[in-house]
Amino acid sequence: MTRTPSKCPPTQTPGNIDIPALREKYREEREKRFRSEGQKQYFRPKSGVLAEQLADPYKPVLPRAAISEEIDVAVLGGGFTGILASVQLRKAGVTRFRNIEQAGDFGGVWYWNRYPGIQCDNESYCYLPLLEETGFVPSKRFSDGTEIQGHCVRIARQFGLYDGALFHTQVKSLRWDESIKRWHVSTDRGDEIRARFVIMAGGPLNRPKLPGIPGLQDFKGQVFHSARWDYGTTGGSWESPVLDKLTDKRVAVVGTGATAIQIVPYLGKYAREVYVLQRTPPSVDARPNPPTDPDWVKTLQPGWQKQRQENFHRGAMEGFHPGDSDLVCDFWTEINRNVAAKLAAQGWPAITPETFMAMREDEDFHVMERFRRRIDEIVQDKATAELLKPWFRFHCKRPLSSDSYYPTFNRPNVHLIDVSATKGVERLTEHGFVHEGKEYPIDLLICASGFEVTSDLDLRWGIDEIQGRDQQSLYDYWADGYKTLHGVVARGFPNQFFTGYIQGGLYATTVEQFNRQGHHIAHIISEALKQGISAVEPTQQAQDAWVQVMAPSTAFSQYMQSECPPSYLNNESGKFRYYLGEFYLAGFTAFEQLLQDWRGQGAFEGMELDRGITPTRKAG
Ligand code: NDP
Repeated sequence: MTRTPSKCPPTQTPGNIDIPALREKYREEREKRFRSEGQKQYFRPKSGVLAEQLADPYKPVLPRAAISEEIDVAVLGGGFTGILASVQLRKAGVTRFRNIEQAGDFGGVWYWNRYPGIQCDNESYCYLPLLEETGFVPSKRFSDGTEIQGHCVRIARQFGLYDGALFHTQVKSLRWDESIKRWHVSTDRGDEIRARFVIMAGGPLNRPKLPGIPGLQDFKGQVFHSARWDYGTTGGSWESPVLDKLTDKRVAVVGTGATAIQIVPYLGKYAREVYVLQRTPPSVDARPNPPTDPDWVKTLQPGWQKQRQENFHRGAMEGFHPGDSDLVCDFWTEINRNVAAKLAAQGWPAITPETFMAMREDEDFHVMERFRRRIDEIVQDKATAELLKPWFRFHCKRPLSSDSYYPTFNRPNVHLIDVSATKGVERLTEHGFVHEGKEYPIDLLICASGFEVTSDLDLRWGIDEIQGRDQQSLYDYWADGYKTLHGVVARGFPNQFFTGYIQGGLYATTVEQFNRQGHHIAHIISEALKQGISAVEPTQQAQDAWVQVMAPSTAFSQYMQSECPPSYLNNESGKFRYYLGEFYLAGFTAFEQLLQDWRGQGAFEGMELDRGITPTRKAG
């Protein structure tokens, strides 16, 4: 079957639900999981076998001479964020830049994550950037990891990013030098790069974290993180994950997030015994993934991808407009599709944002109930089915889709172990894990335990120190939260640019959001270079005003704090500081317009400019 994206009807959701009772159940389940240590519960080994395990297992680190040079821009990262920032620099005419990347190639998460079954869970026609410019057509609706990393390489080649790229290189410190109006960029390869501008393009999912399970270091079997898959141990390869070395092995997987649900069906198929150690059950919908219909491709008109991303954004976040048809038609857009059908039936009355949110909330309860009832239809063992049910609102955890996850629990070799009572896996011994007083021997432990998404910034970036003007530490400066103008620049940190979820617009297609940030940053850098501006930073007044603009969105943070179980989205219920905490409430379109107007005025409004550029010298 091929797929022609088209208008789809609202879904049928269960009608007979008790919303106040559900609300109470959600609250109870949240309280059950709350851990006061927040993100500190995770284990970050500094040395030893587990630390070594986080090195690159895919490509050897080749020796190279340290570099000492001056460049215009250091782009810190080679995932989609770094790639797109560099593409935007090229388009803006800036050529003296380098991507500096810890991995052995471009790709970011799509380089590191090679676990069996890896796919994007956003539709590839929206998620993969620059489809029209590269002429690439994804092979199916949800691309495999190999296809996505291949696309990263394709873009990097097309835009000439390999020439300047420094792979297997981790930036260790960034120091602003007022005397030369440049950043000293020091790396773990001994490089000393003096860059006029730096772009922080690390991406949100680049550093794995291990679960803080007591005894983890005592376990004598094999352990690896899902983002460092060891095919030598499991058999198979990234391209062909036939895990034939597991047929006599007992395997436990920690976690039931987006990663684990893709891995578990493969483990179930190949391993002798599989233990899925679940703390919080995720929501998992169906996942039809047909090949791309060539006839549909022929119908696409220039500008189709942007139009589709905008339609997806309305479907997943801001709400459909009268006359919209849902082009993506999947679980991400279901709530707004159903709300839109109700509004259309009433002739699209004018409603307040509060009414819209109330309609969404009501629909949310119904959709989540649909997910729960779906489990009863698939999983044969009633007790297991019950344990697999998610009790939270749709956006509290990343919504997932898989056709093979739930059926895997019907296999006799797959065991669901509910570790919620101990708020995580109780303990590891030399031989296995302990649950309710019993030791379960295992040969392999796979930690699908996530990434430093909302952790402290030094953990996320792996950079020991970032010193702006007057040796001010960025980590100290932002200790109580972000302070920026438009989410891209901060006072006291001249010529340093930020990307990601920092006080900006929030877009349903993450990669495109980062692309547009890259566009804005590249504009500022190219204009600064053209106009002989040696340093740009926001004025105190403009930055303070922007922080005030962000303030109302803390209501969203409160929702994540008070109604959702712990996860990286709410900083594991610790102090809510970073990531999605603050964004432009009027919506992404309005945010884009604001930046477009700002660029159009050409006046660097709200910025302090230091003119009198000194030319960049050649390497030496
Ligand atoms: P997550 O952070 O989403 O999940 C980590 C899992 O580990 C959770 O189930 C967590 O439980 C569990 N865990 C952590 N510590 C313990 C412990 N001590 N005992 C038991 N369980 C524990 O990580 P993922 O790698 O799954 O996903 C990260 C993000 O990466 C996704 O949200 C998504 O944004 C992205 N991703 C995207 C994919 C795609 O597009 N295809 C695929 C994979 C990932 P609990 O929930 O209780 O905290």
